[in-house]
Amino acid sequence: MSYELPKLDYDYSALEPHIDARTMEIHHAKHHAAYTSKFNDAISGSSDLENKSPEEIFSHISRHSAAVRNNGGGYYNHDLFWKVMSPKGGGKPGGDLADAINRHFGSFDRFKEKFSNAAATRFGSGWAWLVKLPDGGLKVTSTPNQDNPLMDFAEVKGAPILGLDVWEHAYYLKYQNRRPEYIEAFWNVINWDEVARRLKA
Ligand code: MN
Repeated sequence: MSYELPKLDYDYSALEPHIDARTMEIHHAKHHAAYTSKFNDAISGSSDLENKSPEEIFSHISRHSAAVRNNGGGYYNHDLFWKVMSPKGGGKPGGDLADAINRHFGSFDRFKEKFSNAAATRFGSGWAWLVKLPDGGLKVTSTPNQDNPLMDFAEVKGAPILGLDVWEHAYYLKYQNRRPEYIEAFWNVINWDEVARRLKA
């Protein structure tokens, strides 16, 4: 099978002023498109890889090439990223997700601080994650480059339910070197309904 660049559920300008339209356009139409096309190239001709889901591939990623790891991660991570944001997002989660966050982090504010800190302190390029652990718990972590918590060698393994891209390509046009301002802006566009759906999945 071959992967296609996922369509966004909103316009490139929809997350303004928090994430600017030009950044969204380049990020989706250029960066994500390139990961998708290179992922297809990397799995092409391998019946083993072509017939597995990204999740299955990641669970044995250390067996595969850097091209599969980097571009498969890039394909998957950005797909999640677009979905966990919405122009109607922001605020705080409710229901079971709010309960789980309070249970595992003490309060929403302490979770927010922990996640923002993971995003701010990830050296170089990478991602901050909220991960659903195999035992049902929640944990904040970060990964370098296009790695993610589904990969077999991840420090914290589990299902990512919220992810923030902290590569410079995600924020440099608007925020330049001010990564903390971009991280703060992200909280205004988080699609908590989607995060809650992933918690239940
Ligand atoms: Mn990116």
